[in-house]
This record gives sequence, C-alpha cells and structure tokens, in this order.
Amino acid sequence: MEYKCKCGGELKKSHTEVEFYGIDFGVRECEICDTCKTEYLSEDVIEEIEKEIKKRGVFALERSVHVTKSGNSLVLRLPPEIVKFLEIHHKSTVRLFPTDKHRLEVEVLE
Ligand SMILES: [Zn+2]
Repeated sequence: MEYKCKCGGELKKSHTEVEFYGIDFGVRECEICDTCKTEYLSEDVIEEIEKEIKKRGVFALERSVHVTKSGNSLVLRLPPEIVKFLEIHHKSTVRLFPTDKHRLEVEVLE
C-alpha cells in the first residue's frame, strides 16, 4: 500500500455510505484505515460533495455568534435558521466534541 494513515495504519479500499449535512450521497468508494477506522474519500467524491453542498446552500447556514456568560457557563446562541435546519429545540440534548483547540462539533441527540 502506497498510502498510510496519520496513525500509521494501512489504508484499504472499501465502500462507505456517504452523508454530509443530512444529504445522502449514496455508497461511494473510499479508503479505510485498518487501525483507527478513519475513512478517506477520494478527491473526486469530495469535490462532488462540495459542489452539491454549495448548490444546496448549506454553507449559507454558517454564522458568527458572540459568546455570552451565564453563571460559570458560557452560552452560545443558535440563530433560528440553524435551529430550524438541525431540528433542535429548547429541551434537546446535544453532545459536544472539541475536535481541536479551535473547533467544537455539536451532535444533536434528541
Ligand atoms: Zn488510522
């Protein structure tokens, strides 16, 4: 294998169900790491996904918001268009994953 994963594992050709922003791109070719199971999509597939996402205007949902304070916690306000897109409500449970020092991923659980 000519490619290796960041973790040092071997990449093997595989197929995966591709879904981004709730858009289904079907089963596509990918390479999967045999150690950490990270999936790598081919550049063609990524390009196709980016085009489709731009076409559908999902990136138009990107917003900058200010962080405010409530007690010892910090509060992020979700703009209504993001609330609507995520189908999140005021009693939703979400899981927070800091993915690096500058990024926070929020998964809506219910
Ligand atoms: Zn890996």
